[in-house]
Amino acid sequence: MDTNLDSISAVVKKVLIELVEERELSGNNSGIVETIDEAVENAVVAQNRLKKLSLDRRKEIIAAIRKAALDGNERLAALAIEETGLGRYEDKIRENILCATKSTGPEDIEPRSYSGDHGLTLVEHAPRGVIGSLTPITNPTGTLIHNSICMISGGNSVVFNAHPNAGRTSVQTITTMHDAIVRAGGPPGLIGGVARPTLETARELMAHPKVDMLVATGGRPVVQAVLRSGKKAIGAGAGNPPVVVDETANIRRAASCIIDGASVNNNIFCTSEKEVIVVDSVANALIKFMQETGKAYLLTPEQVEKITGIVVTSDRKINGAFIGKNVQVILKEIGLSIGEQYRLAIFEAPRTHPLVWLEQMMPILPIVRVANVSEAISLGVEVEQGNRHTAIIHSNHIEHMTRFAREVETTIFVKNGPSYAGIGLGGEGHTAFTIAGPTGEGLTSARSFTRARRCTLVDAFRII
Ligand code: NAD
Repeated sequence: MDTNLDSISAVVKKVLIELVEERELSGNNSGIVETIDEAVENAVVAQNRLKKLSLDRRKEIIAAIRKAALDGNERLAALAIEETGLGRYEDKIRENILCATKSTGPEDIEPRSYSGDHGLTLVEHAPRGVIGSLTPITNPTGTLIHNSICMISGGNSVVFNAHPNAGRTSVQTITTMHDAIVRAGGPPGLIGGVARPTLETARELMAHPKVDMLVATGGRPVVQAVLRSGKKAIGAGAGNPPVVVDETANIRRAASCIIDGASVNNNIFCTSEKEVIVVDSVANALIKFMQETGKAYLLTPEQVEKITGIVVTSDRKINGAFIGKNVQVILKEIGLSIGEQYRLAIFEAPRTHPLVWLEQMMPILPIVRVANVSEAISLGVEVEQGNRHTAIIHSNHIEHMTRFAREVETTIFVKNGPSYAGIGLGGEGHTAFTIAGPTGEGLTSARSFTRARRCTLVDAFRII
């Protein structure tokens, strides 16, 4: 009799707690609320609930997010292009599919055990809690999809603060996934954000006492800001990926891979080839094969001078107005009209050219000739500038490949493929749209957003 009463009272308590929590959740149940404080409070409640759900239920929630992102793909990709004016529709579609299908799920937090003379030790990956995630204008759908999948797989909730100029896209992306979470039986508020993200709301999120971890995906200043916050932080920063081509490479293949990698989404991927460094003896062939693809337009020296004056400002910064634009739009500025088949403009550049050193994020690609592979490798290391982000090589010489990889020390190193193979598009391994070079997590996965906890049972529990 007592046992029955106990269990009835436990059930009543559980229902009451859930009712109270439900009331505590503010907003319209879309994940989007008015203030950062509301979003964080909702995220606290939701994360507490997620902790109590079974792993099977967590897997169902992740499956629902993946499906919702795929179902909403066309709509979200079109909105991202319309709102930000950056990238290409067909590439945003590929980006969203990649993030929805190849971001890691709960399988990534499998526990580890050690069994030996002194018993059994178990290491499990526990949630961090509430994560504040600052996301870039360049990937306003992909980063949110990837981060949501990995962060929830790790048992966390997340409050996003998107780039102010990608606010509408982020709201739609959050709402789409939030709806799927709730329909799959997950807690409302598990992902959230404000209707109009700004730098001010970013600061509020970073300073909020109930945010346990910060993740910045963007340029150097935002990475530095989260690192100064005093909270556990992951920083995924800018890159300037060099691609080296040596005399042993399959030059035709290199030409085609470089064009595909450098032109994807009009070069706004942080991983995309930003400058080519080619050994002199094969430079003419590389340029000829690039042109033969029909996708690369070779600029004359006069055109290069004019276009440089337009896309680089007088204080040697990238002119933001041309970031992520189609090559036709950029070249029109100098009165040049080229066919729709072109995806990229290429030009021969001295090593001092500003586009060799700046992260241009537009489909204008400098090609620098050097005498030999040693020069190519040292210039590649220099122009990467210690970002430790991405580098690419086309070569069939094992020592050249190894030397460049060792010297450049990037998070992603791609051999004989387009840069995007390194994020799992046509290359093996999971994807990540938060690539944490500065803080060292690499291509983030569910485990990156957890805390390792160890439990040791002494002298027992072995079965052998
Ligand atoms: P950004 O640094 O201007 O903005 C990124 C986010 O940080 C935005 O939400 C912005 O509002 C916020 N932010 C910027 N400065 C801030 C500050 N001082 N305090 C608080 N919040 C701040 O970058 P962007 O232009 O949106 O995106 C392009 C950059 O992001 C490129 O440099 C690219 O290489 C990088 N990126 C890196 C990765 C990666 O995984 N490593 C992925 C995508 C983009």
